[in-house]
Amino acid sequence: MARRRVLFAASEVYPFAKTGGLADVAHSLPRALNGDYDLTVVMPLYRGVDLDRFGIVPTGEAFEVNMGGEGYPVTLYGCDYEGVEYRFVASPLLSERDYLYGPPECGYADNMTRFGIFSHAIVELLRRGGYAVAHLNDWQCGLAALLMRDDASVEAKSLFTIHNLAYQGVFEAACLKTLGIGSEHFTMEGVEFYGRLNFMKAGIGYADRVTTVSPSYAREILTPEFGCGLEGYLRHHRGKLSGIVNGIDTRHFSPEHDAALEAPYRLPSGKAANKSAFLKRTGLKGAKKPLFVFIGRFTWQKGLDLLIDALPKIAVLECNVAILGEGEAAYHDRLKAVAEAHANVSLEFGYDEGLSHRMYAAADFLLMPSLFEPCGLNQMIAMRYGALPVVHRVGGLADTVLPVEGYAPGSGDGFGIAFSAATKRALFGAVQRAVELYGDRRRFGAIARHNMECDFSWEERSKAYAALYEQLAQSG
Ligand code: ADP
Repeated sequence: MARRRVLFAASEVYPFAKTGGLADVAHSLPRALNGDYDLTVVMPLYRGVDLDRFGIVPTGEAFEVNMGGEGYPVTLYGCDYEGVEYRFVASPLLSERDYLYGPPECGYADNMTRFGIFSHAIVELLRRGGYAVAHLNDWQCGLAALLMRDDASVEAKSLFTIHNLAYQGVFEAACLKTLGIGSEHFTMEGVEFYGRLNFMKAGIGYADRVTTVSPSYAREILTPEFGCGLEGYLRHHRGKLSGIVNGIDTRHFSPEHDAALEAPYRLPSGKAANKSAFLKRTGLKGAKKPLFVFIGRFTWQKGLDLLIDALPKIAVLECNVAILGEGEAAYHDRLKAVAEAHANVSLEFGYDEGLSHRMYAAADFLLMPSLFEPCGLNQMIAMRYGALPVVHRVGGLADTVLPVEGYAPGSGDGFGIAFSAATKRALFGAVQRAVELYGDRRRFGAIARHNMECDFSWEERSKAYAALYEQLAQSG
């Protein structure tokens, strides 16, 4: 029997363009599903996408997206990469920019037009193609769920996945006209959000099924604390909402075969060479002291305030701390001040894939004090590299990291240090517990080894998506 066709749409896909975990998921989930389903992945063609490196060429297809009386030209590009078919949507407004969404700390003012074009292009592909399912990801694709409903020629069912509810794509009501969306949709049940237009709401309200990236986050977003103003709307739609925990690409994140490492390794003992090399490079002293790393976006969500407030106390402990990331300027300044005041805190600004791998390999612990975390990939990458995560017990962190106190050999999940209150005191207490655990070399080594052997791959986890696709395809 011919495999069912699925169009998987995302605004970023690794290795073509990436600002966060969505790109990782949009790369590895379709690849894992591609055996059972015939996947096409569609994303915008940004200026930074390397056409030559990936053999991306025009497919010969071009069309015009008509919105609100304006025509926007679209040219399709394509390539095959690791057995998956990719389509890239090129259009001047969408493509000819330096950043994906805008410079740090603000989005482009015309993002609603840009991702309106993208959503219309997704629906145009659906019209042409015999797809059974459209898997739409995050607000940038949200409008496509609404447009599909309005278009009788589209047969595909829709699945909308929320990767982070904090980014919703909210625009002035006047944009409705620019986007050519009928005013019948501008209601509380539709896309209206406090007098404005909300793309995420379009995805949630109009898609046939909605998922988010961990079961805990699926429950949390029904509450005012985590619902970002959409908790009531999500509760209304809870019948079609579920949580599926993310996996990681275990081929890309493989300490044994990682070309970015000084000394690839299979067992935790192999980390020592990577740790010395990293300490030497950063000027940190003391290979016997536990090394804590933080890798991520410098934003409120990632618990930067907790981290910065706790760092001076953490730095007094017998340990080293290394931080890599970029983001809001205020956090840059505050982190710089702490790093300058403490010789055992090193700080690197920027986005550096290779360096992040070397840090996972060198680290004994990964700090992840996120205030909320839809799923989080870093903690799973860390466990795969034999570093124990120190996590705030929320969302996907609660689902993927079990507290070390309950560690028993043979259990299937990964273990780390977990703390419940989002306070600097609780974070500091967790770091103290980590330092203590590090002193118990046998126990620490056993847990690190157990974590390295856990299965965080998409092979198993993608099956939940396959089951949903099947339900959707059969529902029509
Ligand atoms: P996010 O909320 O940013 O999507 P995730 O934990 O889901 O967080 O995914 C983050 C991904 O980005 C991981 O692959 C992580 O290693 C990577 N990453 C984050 N910041 C950096 C950085 N400064 N340099 C290299 N990789 C980074």
